[in-house]
Amino acid sequence: MTTQDDCLFCKIVRGEVPAEIVREGERTIAFRDINPQAPTHVLVIPREHYADAGAAAETDTGLLDAIVREARAVAEDEGVAESGYRLVFNTGSGAGQTVFHLHGHLLGGRGLNWPPG
Ligand code: C5P
Repeated sequence: MTTQDDCLFCKIVRGEVPAEIVREGERTIAFRDINPQAPTHVLVIPREHYADAGAAAETDTGLLDAIVREARAVAEDEGVAESGYRLVFNTGSGAGQTVFHLHGHLLGGRGLNWPPG
């Protein structure tokens, strides 16, 4: 499995940086965002290091499916699946990505506007 020594989310995977983990899968970990933008704001990340969704899609068939499935499970656990939730992959700094380890933002528990800012 590929991890990077200096990657913050790899450190969370390795247990070196604390996080409020809400769900763990074989290939994924889900934890609460430290700066929540909605009542439910959970990040779903792969244990393996990929810089972003595009990089994972190129080489790892099935990983994005696992992330989307896990996000749905978290949404159900959190009670936001029925009212609707958003799953966002910021991809590239121009789109607001600040941590270059693939992560899906699961947002729910309030009305969500479209288009997003
Ligand atoms: O999409 P982007 O790369 O900007 O998202 C990174 C997210 O990681 C931010 O929402 C930030 O609050 C979150 N974060 C976190 N725990 C950390 C560092 C960042 O939840 N230790």
